[in-house]
Amino acid sequence: MSSIKTAEFVISNSNYKNCPTNHLPEYAFIGRSNVGKSSLINAIVNNKKLAKTSSNPGKTQLINHFIINQKWYLVDLPGYGYAKTSKSNREKFKIMTSNYLKYRANLFCLFVLIDIRHSLQIIDQNFMKWLANNEIPFCIVFTKSDKVNTNKQKNNINTYVHEMKKEWKKIPDIFVTSSLKKTGTKAIIDYIENLNRIQIT
Ligand code: GDP
Repeated sequence: MSSIKTAEFVISNSNYKNCPTNHLPEYAFIGRSNVGKSSLINAIVNNKKLAKTSSNPGKTQLINHFIINQKWYLVDLPGYGYAKTSKSNREKFKIMTSNYLKYRANLFCLFVLIDIRHSLQIIDQNFMKWLANNEIPFCIVFTKSDKVNTNKQKNNINTYVHEMKKEWKKIPDIFVTSSLKKTGTKAIIDYIENLNRIQIT
């Protein structure tokens, strides 16, 4: 049974300074548009409608806070790398998100979503380097694992890690998920709950 008992939308903001008071542990989700972020959030909290999914990429354009079990915040961040918006708009989202990531003191972990079918892309690589440079703790979450068979999943992840190792000394923790099959979501919840416990004790 899921340990998520309650999940409620709290507030959307364009400025991290207006986010809810930072007295609770916080976990944020980010990825390129269409990576499956909304679907994954909904699968984690077991509510098909909490984060909006749509076939219109680039729609999450604010910092969205949800409160889980009244104990921690789940944050849905705008997707990055969406080409079909103006350059000034892209810049605006970038500043909004990077300020949130840099200055949100209670951000315990950022989950960076990557489509399991994709190889290591420059845009993701650069983003992860920026995270590391700014000492923002993050994990990698491969999404849509149901789109490839188990062997291909392993191969793709091995190749991804192999590519990362060329530039990274330590590889972040990795999760493999499918929102469609509901796999990997429990591992993420366990990880979050474990971090919550470590911080409290
Ligand atoms: P977002 O833009 O990152 O929030 O992505 P969405 O959650 O809206 O998903 C984008 C598209 O991918 C939608 O058509 C989803 O139905 C599809 N999708 C998302 N997650 C999965 C998954 O785990 N498996 C499969 N097969 N499709 C998925």
